[in-house]
Amino acid sequence: MTIMLKNPYAQATFLKSAALVSQLPEDTGFEVAFAGRSNAGKSSALNCLTNIRQLAKTSRTPGRTQLINVFSLADETKRLIDLPGYGYAKVPFQVKRDWQKNLAHYLDVRQSLRGLILLMDSRHPLKELDQSMIEWGLSRQLPIHILLTKADKLSRLQARNAQLLVEKHYELMADLLSVQLFSSLKKQGVEELIKTLNQWMGFGEELTGGDNDGGER
Ligand code: GDP
Repeated sequence: MTIMLKNPYAQATFLKSAALVSQLPEDTGFEVAFAGRSNAGKSSALNCLTNIRQLAKTSRTPGRTQLINVFSLADETKRLIDLPGYGYAKVPFQVKRDWQKNLAHYLDVRQSLRGLILLMDSRHPLKELDQSMIEWGLSRQLPIHILLTKADKLSRLQARNAQLLVEKHYELMADLLSVQLFSSLKKQGVEELIKTLNQWMGFGEELTGGDNDGGER
């Protein structure tokens, strides 16, 4: 049975792009960041969640725009943060290095950051940079929710195995890390993602359906 949750992210609006952490909005309230390799499906997932088409544009020039995109919810104390995709081979070394520093700085200092949504192609999960990113987040006690994207490209069994593989890899960190399958194409997993976001964003029961939240897969 599918239970429709209210989606407070459908009203997200683009606030700004920042090249540096110092250009981000004031560090108060609640923030959830989305990260992943270039081409992991991050723009598609954010589109799927927020209906903001403009996001798709950012991925057409992978590596050239190393900007942090900030989206604000109707409740302006809450923001979604779209971090630049990593791992794109053609990014000049210096841009990569600068961005790594910037990212490390963001993860280190940002008090309003409540969790990280980490996207990996379900066909090729846990690449080296993904693992570094996850370990980085975990080392500072940041909750991480993994989306195994493009799940529509796998059979049910393959998808299940991909999820088990990642869960097993981080089984000792299960209190900080969760994993789900996701497909922007089929709109699979959107509700599960919304539930996690709602928890981290500090939304109350009114958004999570209160006593009838049995729709989780
Ligand atoms: P980004 O670089 O992480 O922002 O990735 P994009 O969202 O731009 O997606 C990269 C490519 O994967 C594009 O060609 C998308 O059409 C494709 N893609 C993204 N999500 C899905 C999905 O759920 N299913 C399938 N089959 N393809 C997807």
